[in-house]
Amino acid sequence: MKPMPGAGLALPIAEAMKQLAAAEAEAISTLKKVQAKCDHQIVSEMPWRAGNYFGSRAAHRICNHCRLIEEGSHWSGGSVWSRHDYGEADLGNTPGRIVLPIDSDEFWKMRTEGGMGLLGGAA
Ligand SMILES: [Zn+2]
Repeated sequence: MKPMPGAGLALPIAEAMKQLAAAEAEAISTLKKVQAKCDHQIVSEMPWRAGNYFGSRAAHRICNHCRLIEEGSHWSGGSVWSRHDYGEADLGNTPGRIVLPIDSDEFWKMRTEGGMGLLGGAA
């Protein structure tokens, strides 16, 4: 079947979406460069949560400066961390680091803009 003329996406919208994708790629590249150089001196930590909670209940932490996110193992918290798979912590275990406890609402708001895929982490 031959497509009807004008049945496709309007050109200005297609062009705008192309620009958005390029801007997002640039933002991700910048994010990864900053995260690779950051010493993660101040992190916010959402501690392990008991109970029937949506999603993972493991402790999570996020660097206040570069927004790199890490999910901890069951035993992670405070200054002793290992990754969820018990690998070496992405944010390290830096002596003298400032750890700010936060709740889950605050934690998820700190992520780099949700919906754009800018979630940080090692992915
Ligand atoms: Zn950082």
